[in-house]
Amino acid sequence: MALRLSSLFLRTLREDPVDAEAANHRLLVRAGYIRRAAPGIYSWLPLGLKVLAKVEAVVREEMDAIGSQEVHFPALLPREPYEASGRWEEYGENLFRLQDRKGADYLLAPTHEEMFTLLVKDLYSSYKDLPVMLYQIQTKYRDEARPRAGLLRGREFIMKDSYSFDVDDAGLDAAYDAHRRAYQRIFERLGLEIVIVRAQSGPMGGSRSEEFLHPTEIGEDTFVRSPGGYAANVEAVTTVAPEPVDASGTPAAHVEHTPDSPTIQTLVDQANALHPKAEGSWSAADTLKNLLVVVTLPDGQRRVVAVGVPGDRAVDMKRLEVSLVSALGVGGEVEVEQAGDEQLRAYPQLVKGYIGPGLAPDAAVLGEDSETGIPYFVDPRVVEGSAWITGANLPGQHVFDLVVGRDFTPDGVVEACEVREGDPAPDGSGPLSTARGIEMGHIFQLGRKYAEALGLKVLDSNGKLVTVTMGSYGVGVTRALAAIAEANHDEKGLIWPRNLAPADVHVVVAGKGEEILVGAEQVVEELEEQGLTVLFDDRPKVSPGVKFGDAELLGVPTILVIGRGFKDGKLELKDRRTGATRDIDLEDAARTVALEVRGD
Ligand code: ATP
Ligand code: MG
Repeated sequence: MALRLSSLFLRTLREDPVDAEAANHRLLVRAGYIRRAAPGIYSWLPLGLKVLAKVEAVVREEMDAIGSQEVHFPALLPREPYEASGRWEEYGENLFRLQDRKGADYLLAPTHEEMFTLLVKDLYSSYKDLPVMLYQIQTKYRDEARPRAGLLRGREFIMKDSYSFDVDDAGLDAAYDAHRRAYQRIFERLGLEIVIVRAQSGPMGGSRSEEFLHPTEIGEDTFVRSPGGYAANVEAVTTVAPEPVDASGTPAAHVEHTPDSPTIQTLVDQANALHPKAEGSWSAADTLKNLLVVVTLPDGQRRVVAVGVPGDRAVDMKRLEVSLVSALGVGGEVEVEQAGDEQLRAYPQLVKGYIGPGLAPDAAVLGEDSETGIPYFVDPRVVEGSAWITGANLPGQHVFDLVVGRDFTPDGVVEACEVREGDPAPDGSGPLSTARGIEMGHIFQLGRKYAEALGLKVLDSNGKLVTVTMGSYGVGVTRALAAIAEANHDEKGLIWPRNLAPADVHVVVAGKGEEILVGAEQVVEELEEQGLTVLFDDRPKVSPGVKFGDAELLGVPTILVIGRGFKDGKLELKDRRTGATRDIDLEDAARTVALEVRGD
């Protein structure tokens, strides 16, 4: 049945909604696909639901094709499973928590690892039951700090989430690879350009983890790529460390006055003025900048840590956070902030603005075995044998020629520095360049974390209980729809890819009189006989100009105009994507349109 605009529940808007910056958001609201209900929360109107169903169908088909089975969980869930996995707390303010009438705690699920794990635990008990892959297409809730760009970052959104269950690592690898391929097909069918980047698996632990990023200016993620095909999240980039340096010719460390040099620039200036370098001049890269940070551990405890980085590099707190998780050997996410004066006062050995590791191993002020006991981590560029100018822990003084391994020994290495355009890719595939993107999908190997926390074990072939290993895989369905709209529009409106458009053809009646309307009804009927879905603008008292504007706004790729030429047996066929128009014969209009629609 054709969707008739005379009765379709639709009001297009001439004005952009005030809160909308991104094109997809503006256009989806103006074209009557969605309506805002609350910040980051949207209602779906008939045309929006049509497109959504098509996006979901693509996802569903590709999940079914790899043998994953569809289930459906509630969004409203009890606290206990999330308590057991630690996520009731870990999710922090992003979790919508609520209580029932008896005061029992509930949540609106942000993702469903716990429930899937428990379901499999409920029903399966043997290795013979495995492997199994399950998925759902379901509404998720996250109280995002900054919901934005309409559906792109919502507080209520639809996700396809799937989970794999295996007895061994090889099984998990196979499930992971199957999802990886399925995701490639999904985004190809959705017409979304994707860059697969190595990701950090974050608080869930696990090993292999990749994100499917869609490069777009409106994306919030920064990623890097190299000409040789390396691509990674900034947090996942490992620094290419220089070779160790032979320090046999480096003079003994010496303390020098560098008055008024609390910043790197003033230090470099002072060093060049008062203690010139043997050859050339000192630069920021010769200095070792030491930063005191407060790390909040997953259990809420706070710990002071020192980090040393080359003075020409800025610290990237996000990278530092990710890197400290493994450097400190903690199980979950940590938060890092720069230490304030208050924390500094607890360490009278440290002089603000002139902090350094100490003059010699037995006089160390930084490091786990030092006077302060503050763990001291350095950037990978601070290699064995390299010499530095760094704080002497004396007001207005710095140490020169302080050599790693000879004069001080860091407790470990952390990725603390920003990744810069032009830095070498870790795999040797060339210089990195940065780009913006948005995460459309994420696949990762959870390993045994959830199975352990929730006791999902099965009997193996020897009758021994073994913990199941899991993978978790997500696609942002509503986010994908928004990204598709963003990637397919012009100033006049949306331009849907054929396979996702709310209809195959948009028929516009652009003329007055009974005769033309009857003729149009006839054409629509014939189009439907050809198996095409039709959006039919049969509104009697609306001007052709308004109808054309709406057709362009709504974005069906093929527009058929029944107007001036009708009396001469001619209709106008318009391609919304190119703007090209041509006259076609009324007589076999339906066949011509069907050929056109199916032709690409
Ligand atoms: P992001 O980094 O963008 O916040 P995430 O890493 O928190 O995403 P996952 O937990 O990996 O997201 O969720 C799987 C998928 O769900 C994501 O790849 C993304 O496509 C989608 N998604 C996540 N959060 C939102 C949201 N607030 N609105 C719409 N889609 C989302
Ligand atoms: Mg993610």
